[in-house]
Amino acid sequence: MCDETVYDELGVPTVVNAAGTKTRIGGSRIRAEAMEAMAEAAESFVRLSDLQAAASDRIAAVTGAEAGYVTNGASGALLLGTAACIAGTDPGTMARLPDTEDVPSEVVMPRTHRTGYDHAIRSAGASIVDIGTNDRHLGTGARDVEPWEYADAIGDETVAVAHVYKDYGSPTLSEVCSIAHDHDVPVIVDAAAEIPPVSNLEWFTEQGADLVAFSGGKAIRGPQTTGILAGRQDLLESVAMQHLDMHAAPEVWDPPARLFDADAVEGVPEQGIGRSLKVGKEELVGLLRALDLFIEEDHEAKRARWREQADRISASLGEVEALATRTAEGAKSVAPTVVVDVDEDSADVSTVELVSALRQSEPRVFVGADQLPDQRFTVNPMCLTDEEADYVVAQIAEQLHGAGTDTGDGVPRRA
Ligand SMILES: *Cc1c(COP(=O)(O)O)cnc(C)c1O
Repeated sequence: MCDETVYDELGVPTVVNAAGTKTRIGGSRIRAEAMEAMAEAAESFVRLSDLQAAASDRIAAVTGAEAGYVTNGASGALLLGTAACIAGTDPGTMARLPDTEDVPSEVVMPRTHRTGYDHAIRSAGASIVDIGTNDRHLGTGARDVEPWEYADAIGDETVAVAHVYKDYGSPTLSEVCSIAHDHDVPVIVDAAAEIPPVSNLEWFTEQGADLVAFSGGKAIRGPQTTGILAGRQDLLESVAMQHLDMHAAPEVWDPPARLFDADAVEGVPEQGIGRSLKVGKEELVGLLRALDLFIEEDHEAKRARWREQADRISASLGEVEALATRTAEGAKSVAPTVVVDVDEDSADVSTVELVSALRQSEPRVFVGADQLPDQRFTVNPMCLTDEEADYVVAQIAEQLHGAGTDTGDGVPRRA
């Protein structure tokens, strides 16, 4: 801790991450073996298309899909997947994206699946056609989207159905896929944070999904900038054509057949819409190494460790005056979260003041802040070492009751 780090050199405070795998504070801790693989990858040159072809084999093997591709994040995977659904292997359309004036480019998507990440879908040139209602979420009814609404919305302009995987109930992903396939339309699934369980690598493809996007920087703990797109060979061919750097001399252009049939396209495709979503050899190799380790990992043991750590944090914070804690079981893919209720009448600071003071300390401490209006914050053990967990508990206690020892450190106190 005493050695000057790269962050010290830049004058940037580090973050103790008690909020879980959040991209904006650095995602997850990359696996050491992935870092080693990246350093090794950096030593030689390699043709990126050969590397993507090898990645395709590996991703196909672990997902059960026909092909795969390493993208820059799940978000990049969604953009590339959508571009493939719009353009297929038509060189003119590929060259014109995101301009879709003359080609079908609608993506049908339930309102309840819309997230900030669907900007990636729209960035490819698609427009999203909303279906269903938001009734279930609002409590104004029990249903969100009906099978017939998919069928009703799919038409000549539709290029794909998008599905953000969460526990929605109905219709199931497999039903959605059957409806879409009845209309010859592919289904793109955003499963960015849906692994583990490892079996989910295959599950979405088994349900009939044509393209599945996973994040490489979350539980896989590969490089932050990576993602995986798994799916149909023909769609992944289009992805490769729109992603690879295409500044090649046509006379000697000879891409690997695993990626696409070069004879089926006229000349060398132009730099496509995916060219701005570059993936380097180092990231690609790092992701594949991390993926292997993720599959081999003992996930039960990891969950047990998270639970133990959550219980320990919960017990220590529970002893702090004005705090009441409980642990809430997370989805299969994430750690249990410690939910902390602040009794603002007996604390020196409000919950908002506490959480902002933690963020302003050095190192910064980030706790989960999605429930501040309920005088509640959360602590997630996924990205904490034991030592850091102790530090977080101590900082919370100090910021809560430190008014008596206030040294004018700029920490806001409640009047
Ligand atoms: C994290 C996340 C993404 C983005 O993943 P990146 O790998 O960071 O691009 C997209 N969709 C959902 C639902 C996510 O949780």
